[in-house]
Amino acid sequence: MMEFQSYSLKELSNLFELQKETALKWRQSSSSERILRLEKIKNWISLNQKWIKSAIYEDFKKPFPETDLSEIFPVTTEINHAIKNLNSWMKPKKVDSSLSMAGTKGKIFFEPKGTSLIISPWNYPFNLAIGPLISALAAGCPVILKPSELTPHTSDLIQQMIEELFDKAEVAVIQGGVEITQQVLELPFDHIFFTGSPTVGKKIMEAASRNLSSVTLELGGKSPTIVHLTADLKDAAEKIVAGKFLNCGQTCVAPDYLLIHEEVKEHFLMEVKVAIKKMYDPDLKGLENSEDLARIVNSNNFQRLHSLLDDAKAKGGKIEFGGNTNPDDLYIEPTILGDLNDSMRVLEEEIFGPILPILTYNALEEAISYINSKPKPLALYYFGKEDDSYQEVLQKTSSGNVMLNDCVLHFLHPNLPFGGVNNSGIGKSHGYFGYLAFSNEKGVLKQRVGFNNSTLIKPPYDFKTKKIISTLIKWL
Ligand code: NAD
Repeated sequence: MMEFQSYSLKELSNLFELQKETALKWRQSSSSERILRLEKIKNWISLNQKWIKSAIYEDFKKPFPETDLSEIFPVTTEINHAIKNLNSWMKPKKVDSSLSMAGTKGKIFFEPKGTSLIISPWNYPFNLAIGPLISALAAGCPVILKPSELTPHTSDLIQQMIEELFDKAEVAVIQGGVEITQQVLELPFDHIFFTGSPTVGKKIMEAASRNLSSVTLELGGKSPTIVHLTADLKDAAEKIVAGKFLNCGQTCVAPDYLLIHEEVKEHFLMEVKVAIKKMYDPDLKGLENSEDLARIVNSNNFQRLHSLLDDAKAKGGKIEFGGNTNPDDLYIEPTILGDLNDSMRVLEEEIFGPILPILTYNALEEAISYINSKPKPLALYYFGKEDDSYQEVLQKTSSGNVMLNDCVLHFLHPNLPFGGVNNSGIGKSHGYFGYLAFSNEKGVLKQRVGFNNSTLIKPPYDFKTKKIISTLIKWL
């Protein structure tokens, strides 16, 4: 593995100056120039899939098919979608005139914001570093990319890929932890795209405020999952198990906790246990021997999850399923927790691991009030019929995204904005929304020369002008 290179402040600001020059050059870049950059990445990925899979496996034993599905596929579809649509995204968009603007012509131009910093987390170490890079390059922005220090094999791979494909004046990778990130954050970037925890997100926003850099914050939190009376319980159980234990629960949009109607709780729990066995232990060799379960990323996170379990057990929580752990293998069994109360940390902190707490409700309003008493989540899942109850949840709660009768999958939709709200994030990403995150939507208005509407409202404010102004206020 590469040693972290250290950078002096002078070196960082020299790199930033180089990228500033590129930003000016790229301001006028055509869609075909930008597409060439995206294609370079696409070709590199198709030639190096094995390397990507083994690097992420080295980092936290992520199963190869999961890397195909959740690291390589989302990035290649993001690239293909951008290549297909970039030409139309970049075209200035005409806007309608209002009566008071009659005679003018308005258009929205999309200019690249310019110098950009992308800071990514460890949990989807390839996808969440390269996905935003695609959006930045599509929008015409040079990038300094800071991948996570907790997944060093993947971060090294990303650095080698970028150094092979780009000049550092275009895209540069800087590796390291908190200290180097804080130094880079001193630079006056035009845009900062951060994916990580709400706690660190606040620090990023604070640093960005010193330069008034714009931010996209893709954060986390506790995504609630309602299983209502009308749900198909077997179908819901299978989808929730697949979404929760993907990446060993270390997914920002994993169902964090369940809210189940009291009447269907026992039946649903039975279906969940069957689904876990069916998916992760079909040959009855034991869940700990499953090749389809990733491991916890490091011992700090293992200890954190272990202490969440210990805390719940000490306060009267019941392990409905699982609960076994092995620190030597950083293994935590898929675990379902019941008999919970508000004093337990598992209901306060984002879990980010294979532990699924279950709460129950009798009236849907209880579930809605519970969700609304917490910070706004990144995703909310509802299993049940698309009826009035579902509409009630949709309208009475606030979250970054909502999914009906499945979970996690919305991340892959190319035409939906992805992101949080307040505590779970600021700004949106993916596809066109990712392109917008790195673009300044510049409103441009063309006025005709000579007489026009505004001539009528210029001083002196005589009786006739005042009359026109009051008519404007009354009618337009
Ligand atoms: P993190 O916030 O600890 O770290 C993210 C990045 O910030 C890393 O590159 C890290 O080096 C850097 N960092 C950490 N502390 C810093 C500091 N004090 N100053 C500057 N930079 C700092 O997050 P993580 O543990 O890597 O990832 C898990 C979190 O990310 C979870 O909360 C999860 O929900 C969230 N997440 C969100 C999304 C999303 O798309 N919304 C996706 C994945 C993960």
